[in-house]
Amino acid sequence: EMFGQLTSGLENAWNKLKGEEVLTKENIVEPMKDIRRALLEADVSLPVVRRFVQSVSEEAVGVGLIRGVKPDQQLVKIVRDELVKLMGGEVSELVFGKSSPTVILLAGLQGVGKTTVCAKLANYLKKQGKSCMLVAGDVYRPAAIDQLVILGEQVGVPVYAEGTDVKPSEIARKGLQEAKRQNVDVLIVDTAGRLQIDKGMMDELKDVKKVLNPTEVLLVVDAMTGQEAAALVTTFNVEIGITGAILTKLDGDSRGGAALSVKEVSGKPIKLVGRGERMDDLEPFYPDRMAGRILGMGDVLSFVEKAQEVMRQEDAEDLQKKIMSAKFDFNDFLKQTRAVARMGSMTRVLGMIPGMGKVWGTRFRFCGYVIATEKYGLCAASVSVRLLTLEASNGYGIHNQTEEREKPELLAESAVRRKRIAQESGKTEQQVSQLVAQLFQMRVRMKNLMGAMEGGSIPALSN
Ligand code: GDP
Repeated sequence: EMFGQLTSGLENAWNKLKGEEVLTKENIVEPMKDIRRALLEADVSLPVVRRFVQSVSEEAVGVGLIRGVKPDQQLVKIVRDELVKLMGGEVSELVFGKSSPTVILLAGLQGVGKTTVCAKLANYLKKQGKSCMLVAGDVYRPAAIDQLVILGEQVGVPVYAEGTDVKPSEIARKGLQEAKRQNVDVLIVDTAGRLQIDKGMMDELKDVKKVLNPTEVLLVVDAMTGQEAAALVTTFNVEIGITGAILTKLDGDSRGGAALSVKEVSGKPIKLVGRGERMDDLEPFYPDRMAGRILGMGDVLSFVEKAQEVMRQEDAEDLQKKIMSAKFDFNDFLKQTRAVARMGSMTRVLGMIPGMGKVWGTRFRFCGYVIATEKYGLCAASVSVRLLTLEASNGYGIHNQTEEREKPELLAESAVRRKRIAQESGKTEQQVSQLVAQLFQMRVRMKNLMGAMEGGSIPALSN
């Protein structure tokens, strides 16, 4: 699991708040120590950790009591928002030049995955319909040129190479000429990697940059190097001026320090991340998704936001009332399933929820989590509807039965009615009975989930 250690470190913080009523200056002291420790262990740079802990603390003490929201959940939300901010907020897109070709210059130390990134990036852009060309500018390692040629072939992108006897700036100039001649959209230029930064490397990069006038200068850094990666980005930016970073090897057991420090330390965004050795393993860096992953909640939060967009406020309040009074009926059921349908397929929605499909306990915990954040209550309701009922509702004829839609009791009480619905919807009586039983179970469960009074009853189906 990516950043697993960081995730479990942060869990200590939430756990210390269990049973508290509200976040206070006093009760966040220990959780904040856990957060600090978790970040330091993840190799986030100390000044970043200090600032982070300070802003989270200030936020936390300021939020006060929100009905229905538990303090640990409040803290999760605050930490999440701060993590997103720390990583730059929005996704930072690649910029394309006004005239072709757009030139992307790649720099980086040896072994970070720079050559691989060249080909991955070409592959990525090709999928967006852009034609690309690679330039082999790493003249100190013949093997690097061969590797680039092989990878270029693999992804179906031409590679401009001159061997090792020509100056990198000269290769760059000729490569650019060739790209113009062939009218390619994007020229990706590989440069020499050294084992460590030295003046020769920087001077050479400056020369190449001058020749190319690139739209993007991206430093490739290895996520395994933690905060060192952030320091490198700073140095390269000061020395040659860069537009962003590409973080590689996020699939390994990197601890998170690089992802969390680069933007804050260097002021430059991470634009792309590499997550494996295959040519497809390159993707944009999404701070919000990353934060979700770090908190071990998958994309629950963005799912919640999406759910909110889909649901109208009056529906939400109406539904909440119904749930609290255990009056949830088939009409609500339909509304919910439609809302879920608008959010995308259920598999996708469920896929965003970690640990889903395990046991009821997990599902309820998720529902409880979301419900407790009050305004999100609705989304949890819609999820539980789908979880607790059969996949398809439409086939059960509940579209047509106005009376029975509002009063599911009628169906519980009358086998005749159930039989009629079974006939009309082409289902078996047993399936209809199941659906009815599940609605009542749902009422009880949802009510319990909402933290309301105990109980509610599940009426037995009479014959
Ligand atoms: P360069 O010296 O910077 O050009 O590095 P290379 O592109 O030759 O990559 C060095 C090694 O790292 C190779 O074995 C790559 O397969 C591997 N590598 C590159 N990117 C990734 C990544 O995102 N994940 C993993 N697991 N390995 C990677």
